[in-house]
Amino acid sequence: PARTRVAPSPTGDPHVGTAFMALFDLAWARKTGGQFVLRIEDTDQNRLVAGSEDQIYESLAWLGLQPDEGPHVGGEHGPYRQSERLTTYRPFVEQLIEAGHAYYCWCSSERLAELRREQEQSKASVTGYDRLCHGLTRGERAALAGFSETPVVRMLIPDDVPLTFQDIVRGEVKAPRPDDQVILKADGFPTYHMAVVVDDHLMGINTVVRGEEWISSTPKHILLYQWLGWQLPQFAHMPLLRNTDKSKISKRKNPAARLMWFKEEGYLPEAVRNFLQLLGYAGGDEQEVKTFDQFVDEFDWGKVNTVGPIFDLKKLDWLNGHYLRSLTPEELADRIMAFEEANWTPSEEQVAVLRKAVPIIQERLVLLKDALPQLDYLFVADGELTVEDDAVAALADNAAEVLDAAIAVAESVPFDTDSIQAGLKERLVEGMGIKPKFAFAPIRVAISGRRVSPPLFESMEILGRASSLARLRALR
Ligand code: ATP
Ligand code: GLU
Repeated sequence: PARTRVAPSPTGDPHVGTAFMALFDLAWARKTGGQFVLRIEDTDQNRLVAGSEDQIYESLAWLGLQPDEGPHVGGEHGPYRQSERLTTYRPFVEQLIEAGHAYYCWCSSERLAELRREQEQSKASVTGYDRLCHGLTRGERAALAGFSETPVVRMLIPDDVPLTFQDIVRGEVKAPRPDDQVILKADGFPTYHMAVVVDDHLMGINTVVRGEEWISSTPKHILLYQWLGWQLPQFAHMPLLRNTDKSKISKRKNPAARLMWFKEEGYLPEAVRNFLQLLGYAGGDEQEVKTFDQFVDEFDWGKVNTVGPIFDLKKLDWLNGHYLRSLTPEELADRIMAFEEANWTPSEEQVAVLRKAVPIIQERLVLLKDALPQLDYLFVADGELTVEDDAVAALADNAAEVLDAAIAVAESVPFDTDSIQAGLKERLVEGMGIKPKFAFAPIRVAISGRRVSPPLFESMEILGRASSLARLRALR
């Protein structure tokens, strides 16, 4: 059974990439009867953002990607926050120092910056840390320039560091030669590299799924596993999601990089999840609409894309429309109310109107956020309906005549959609010889205030006779 994990840093709004990794983590865990773990990587204390951890948890839960273990659910391998595991890392760092695989470095940040500058200027072929501190005692080093009181600990990268490794998505992967990586910072916190290896090992993670930007770190991690005598996990380096112009999608440039954006826009979690499933597989998938259970059944690392998948929101819109249409009208009304919860507290009567109105927008609805604005004319009092100027301006000369006839019909027919439609058609189209386009336009403007609206006759039935008549008379 696989044990997988997603290991985001709580540094701001959760990234859509986190959900992408979590989806594949969870699918592989489910496929093999294993577990999916959430670990919070909060060792970079300067970048922490309050509330971010809760948002990570909530957004994963929203997508149905709840971890089996994690800070919010517990588990046997906790604590699941790295900041609560600081005493765990230290002995392993000591062990590496004693074995000669790691060494203290007292170089000040000024000296390191100066070293970098020199290397850049001289276009040195060997770059990175120059190992000044390696082999020196504290006293010996203190006698030299650029000394800092609080040391860091660095890995001693051997000349024969293995630079290729097997990836279950990419096959053999080659990475560049690493520098003497810092593993313990001056503040006593481990760096990502040390913490990720220790935690993945202690948490029994046997499949590491992460973004391809970590490929260059993997040789360092493999060395740490070997030095500590631990079994290597499998690695799956997933492609980075890309904008339509092929650039990497990032929170600074693309709102859709923020996981919460999808919720705010009114995408359904099942559509977003399905979209991410599609993005993961090379060439998409012949069957585009697929439940998570189907995805798990057919899960195959061999199908995973290695070229950055294009984040095409048109496809997501299409999927969202599909999932919206597959809800029952009752479910859709519930989803709309849940979506609007913070801004809209409907009366019982308004809830009833919404439930009646949902079927008339369901066919074409793309986003939950569009639902109420499309139906707003059904929720205002007759006297408060805003009639748009362009709608009035577009009315033909015979609008008054049409409205009079419509009023007469609305006064007399049984007030259901079919009777209203039949009555209006008989009177206006057949009786007065007006083309349907001109016959119904003034009525639509009167009822909805707009040139374009959801289906007219249904809207009239929902409003009822009195309200429909009041609106027709108001435009007259
Ligand atoms: P910014 O968007 O501001 O450039 P970022 O998006 O790169 O920052 P990070 O904090 O660096 O955000 O990354 C957060 C997580 O999201 C990391 O696990 C990273 O692997 C993942 N990630 C970042 N960009 C992508 C992407 N384009 N596709 C998939 N995953 C990504
Ligand atoms: N904390 C790292 C990140 O943000 C984890 C990378 C990994 O999965 O190893 O993305």
